[in-house]
Amino acid sequence: MSQQQAKRPGEVAVEHSQASDAWLQYIGRIHTPWQRREDCPRQGELDGPECQIEVFQPWDHALVGLQTTTPLEVLYWLDQSRRDLVLQCPKGREQPLGTFALRSPVRPNPIGSSVVELIGIEGQLLRVRGLDCLDGTPLLDLKPARSAFMTNPGT
Ligand code: SAM
Repeated sequence: MSQQQAKRPGEVAVEHSQASDAWLQYIGRIHTPWQRREDCPRQGELDGPECQIEVFQPWDHALVGLQTTTPLEVLYWLDQSRRDLVLQCPKGREQPLGTFALRSPVRPNPIGSSVVELIGIEGQLLRVRGLDCLDGTPLLDLKPARSAFMTNPGT
């Protein structure tokens, strides 16, 4: 956690293991207009500002076949999140809720996902709308959104 996040009244943190079970690699970086968490939208909007997804080599070769007509699901690592809260009080809520009842970035494995509109592909850069993360957020994965997959199961 690079920016210390204070707990709100009612929130509960737990001690937890630092051991890691999964081997993940960042396959790119997301470029957005937002430098501070509080400036990010809570959820991305398809009419939000244009953002860029930079796909690192050699994973840019995996973009073959990606089409701008296909809604894209983006998975990213919310790297500025604390990871120890089991009960949380999102802004505007009086009563705490369990982490798994929320889409809060604060979770044991801070994976975020958004379905975005793919506007264009320029080499290793994807131009998209619909993101809600900080500038520089690490990219974990890209895949056709489930809706597109259901109508075109060959993808
Ligand atoms: N759309 C994703 C989801 O539903 O899984 C993320 C939703 S989460 C509510 C979005 C919020 O996470 C933003 O409003 C911002 O406060 C916070 N956030 C954005 N980028 C982050 C990062 N790199 N690390 C930690 N928090 C981040």
